[in-house]
Amino acid sequence: MNADLHCHSNVSDGLLAPADVARRAQAGGVTVWALTDHDEIGGQAEASATAQALGMRYLPGVEISVTWAGKTVHVVGLGIDPACPTLIAGLYATRHGRSGRARAIAAALEAVGIPGAYEGALRFVSNPDLISRTHFARFLVDEGFAQSTADVFDRFLGDGKPGYVPHRWAALEDAVAWIKAAGGVAVIAHPGRYRYTPLEFDALFGAFIDLGGEAIEVVTGSHTPDQYREYADVARRFGFEASRGSDFHAPGEGRIELGSLPPLPADLTPVWERFV
Ligand code: AMP
Ligand code: MN
Ligand code: MN
Ligand code: MN
Repeated sequence: MNADLHCHSNVSDGLLAPADVARRAQAGGVTVWALTDHDEIGGQAEASATAQALGMRYLPGVEISVTWAGKTVHVVGLGIDPACPTLIAGLYATRHGRSGRARAIAAALEAVGIPGAYEGALRFVSNPDLISRTHFARFLVDEGFAQSTADVFDRFLGDGKPGYVPHRWAALEDAVAWIKAAGGVAVIAHPGRYRYTPLEFDALFGAFIDLGGEAIEVVTGSHTPDQYREYADVARRFGFEASRGSDFHAPGEGRIELGSLPPLPADLTPVWERFV
């Protein structure tokens, strides 16, 4: 079983259409797949139809932006019903505000000598409801302000950098509730990326469990091998099911291809087992 349960299409900040991400997943050997666009399920019908035509098992998915203890956390929902009105309304509300934030990001970049970033980022946007920092990053690379999208985040768009604009996303309790209302399982995405203290991490995992969250990503394109071990231990300690996903966005952007991550540690319970 080669599960890849975290990736993006051009319905959010990926570069490929959902059907092309599906083909790439299948070419990469993926047998259980989920497309998890940020705050959007507009790609689910195309992803699901293509996956099934290619013989992959498909889990409808989403990656919800959350603010918890003043920082951004991403919560993946797997096995959701994309027609669930509660989920649809919640994601709509979460997307709302991205345009205003994008204008504020452009103003902040203009203040450090980079004009026209809003219009520039829009050149890279397929879904006008979903403008993200990744689109700004592609614009800045294209204009020669940085070498790579990672370089853009290090110098301009990461937390505390000149183009960083604080934003309040969904509440953790709401994101988990929407996922559960849609019949899905809630998964904490790439925990190794969050800059919480050990005490805050324990509080996050405890709160997540109390709300009905059940899984964390252990093997992800955002973790180092040391972090695979660290979050495998977290899964054991808190009784979480474990997930695996590349967080693929675009060919050549980021280091991990669909389906190419190492397997989960054998003693963990894969979150996809409940669906297959
Ligand atoms: P947003 O939801 O608009 O804040 O954008 C977040 C997205 O930016 C993430 O989903 C990633 O695709 C991308 N991103 C965040 N940090 C980095 C980084 N250090 N390098 C490359 N991409 C990043
Ligand atoms: Mn992204
Ligand atoms: Mn994420
Ligand atoms: Mn992601």
